[in-house]
Amino acid sequence: MLSADPVLVILSLSSIGYLVLIAAVLRSREINQPTTRLLAVFILAALGWSIEEILLRLQQVDLTAAFDLFVLHRLSLYIQFGLAVLFLWLTHRFERKPGLSLAWWGFSGFVLAAALVLYENPFHLPGQIQVTPGLLLLREPAAFDILVTGWIVLAAGSIYLSWKGLRKTISPLHRNRNLYWSTAAILAAAGQALFLFRQVIPGSLFYFTAITLASYVMLTHDLPDLRSVFRSSASYLAVTFLAAVLYLTGFFFIQLADRRIPGFDPFLGGVILAVSMAAFAIPLLSMLQRVINRTMQGSFYDPHQMLSEYSQTISNIIDLDYLAAVAVSRICEAMDLTRGALITVHIHPGGDVLIDEPASEYILRPVTGYGQKLPEGRLAGKCSLVAALSRGHFPITQYDIDLLPQYKDLTPIERTWIDRLNMDVYVPVYSKDTWIGVMAMGPKKSGDRYFNEDLSILQTLADQTAIALENARLYDNLKQRNAENERLNQDLRAANAELARLDEAKSDFINIASHELRTPLTQVLGYNDILNEMIRTNSLEATTGLMMVDSVRKAARRLEEIVEMMFDVTKLESRTLDLHCAPVSLASIITVAIDTWMKGIEDRKQSISVHGLANLPAVMADGKRLIQAFSNLIQNAIKSTHDGGQIRITGRVAGPGEVRLPPTENGTPRPPDQIYVEIVVTDTGIGIAEEDLERIFIKFYRVGSVLLHSSGETKFKGAGPGLGLTIARGIVEAHGGWMWAESPGYDETTCPGSSFHVVLPVFAQPEAP
Ligand code: ADP
Repeated sequence: MLSADPVLVILSLSSIGYLVLIAAVLRSREINQPTTRLLAVFILAALGWSIEEILLRLQQVDLTAAFDLFVLHRLSLYIQFGLAVLFLWLTHRFERKPGLSLAWWGFSGFVLAAALVLYENPFHLPGQIQVTPGLLLLREPAAFDILVTGWIVLAAGSIYLSWKGLRKTISPLHRNRNLYWSTAAILAAAGQALFLFRQVIPGSLFYFTAITLASYVMLTHDLPDLRSVFRSSASYLAVTFLAAVLYLTGFFFIQLADRRIPGFDPFLGGVILAVSMAAFAIPLLSMLQRVINRTMQGSFYDPHQMLSEYSQTISNIIDLDYLAAVAVSRICEAMDLTRGALITVHIHPGGDVLIDEPASEYILRPVTGYGQKLPEGRLAGKCSLVAALSRGHFPITQYDIDLLPQYKDLTPIERTWIDRLNMDVYVPVYSKDTWIGVMAMGPKKSGDRYFNEDLSILQTLADQTAIALENARLYDNLKQRNAENERLNQDLRAANAELARLDEAKSDFINIASHELRTPLTQVLGYNDILNEMIRTNSLEATTGLMMVDSVRKAARRLEEIVEMMFDVTKLESRTLDLHCAPVSLASIITVAIDTWMKGIEDRKQSISVHGLANLPAVMADGKRLIQAFSNLIQNAIKSTHDGGQIRITGRVAGPGEVRLPPTENGTPRPPDQIYVEIVVTDTGIGIAEEDLERIFIKFYRVGSVLLHSSGETKFKGAGPGLGLTIARGIVEAHGGWMWAESPGYDETTCPGSSFHVVLPVFAQPEAP
């Protein structure tokens, strides 16, 4: 009887099963997803295979049936191969890879083409093909071998890919899903292998189970935890075994008593056994079950104790960082978690406003607390995750975010931020229905998933954190405002000091300018009056007249010089000094600068010497301006040195490590291969006090009273307008160089002397001699 054939029964049942599966897939809400459609195609192919196997079986048991056995066998092989391709494709999709790579498509296409050519023989090849002199190919067996080898490679590919996915997944929920899929991959491969050996009944059972499992995983979000299923079964088996041992021992003793004790009533023995079992064995067994559960679960906590301890610990904390550290560490310790973080929610970058209305964007800021520093993130106000967190009142797992279609609207940036947090569950914190924070918790140390009870407890803990968190946020805002106020105060103090300095500089300017300008002006006016008087009384002699005109010219020239100096300072300060740069030799520049003052040096019986200037490389500079800078330095050296003193000018070439480098303006590193020249103007003069070493470069600053006025260009301690060094430094800096003064101190009797260092970058290397 055909109907009684077990193979046919199993194949028919699995065909019906496939039909049910197809119906379930088509009815699923996710049928619009490409992966779900692929799954539907895959099950349809499996159904086709099952029907084809029914036809094959019919032909085998009733040879009169009108099917070609050979064709059916081939068809079975083709479908099996196609199913392996589809399963590999599905596995790629399951592992969230875009799809089968070109290499896989190429391989599958090649195998199918080779099998078709050899099996279907469109080119009328002979049954035996001599490939090489030593290799004879039997056409049809070769086609079979190629298809089977192709199938083995594809099935192994699916298993390997699932296994790789399982290995690299840390999150327990994802692992659980991968475990299901890996099992399905192994079952599918085993089922097909059994078919190849014509073990149709176990083969179709295995294959049907594999496909059911795969469809279940694809269509179900909350999969039962395989580890806990295993754990419960193991504990159930252990307890059943122990119960059996206890009962058997009881029976053994009753039998023993029956045989050994004369007049023993077995009924009474049975009653005693039942009572003692009810009294001792049942509590003992349930205790045993608890112990087994606890040992196997790895972590166990008492929620009530944990909740009361937690709220007591955090209720009085007002420091946000400390609250985060304590809250997170408490929960991690109690629930045996690897890590966690407290995240505050803000709608303004400044972070000082609590949210009471929906915002267009939320800023999520992890509190440093303890442990790793997590990045700040932003979530769009409209995104589904914000909707779930701000209104859901229940934790959201990373698994949900990864897999549920509703979270597909997260942007890549948002998703990257969440991935970087590397947490397993996000518990919202509310203050009077306003979403103010998130407690993000990492995986459990045991590797277990978060069960629903865990999530409820976490939500209760988060609710208890709310008041403390709100207080801490308010306190934190207050601290931030205080810090801001303090900073503003500091700025104000600095601005005040700057204003006072400017005011002082202004007074100095007025004092110095009026003093400096008054001397030549008085001379001009005085000579003018005398000339006037002499012309009126007709007593002006030509020589006297010429002498007076010359004096007026000198005074006017001095006026012009002072005005020009002031103008230079203004240009340097506003960075509008025009430089006409060309390669110049420092030796000639310094010679010209010295020549300007040679008469003064001779008058003061001083000596001046230069060393090491001749071989210095040329620098790219405005020669006139550099002469001005060095001329100021030489003039100062003459004025600060007693009659008969010495001035010495030295030069050298220096690498970046060999000169004192000031910090760069914006912290950018200097070129490592930059070469510099350093010129030092040293004198044996009165020296400079330490506190004046920098001040002398400030405009209008001069050591001593500001009311002194210019008293000769080279006279000992002759005062100037206090602009010479400001201009010299300004010029050097405009050339990319810098300048500073060194001196052991100020002393007019011991004359410790001072030296002025000028460093300039070399742009042009000296030409080879
Ligand atoms: P001034 O026009 O008054 O010379 P500078 O800016 O050139 O102004 O110099 C500022 C002050 O620095 C001078 O008043 C002087 O006291 C001091 N100074 C400059 N060069 C030397 C030096 N070589 N030795 C001692 N003091 C110096």
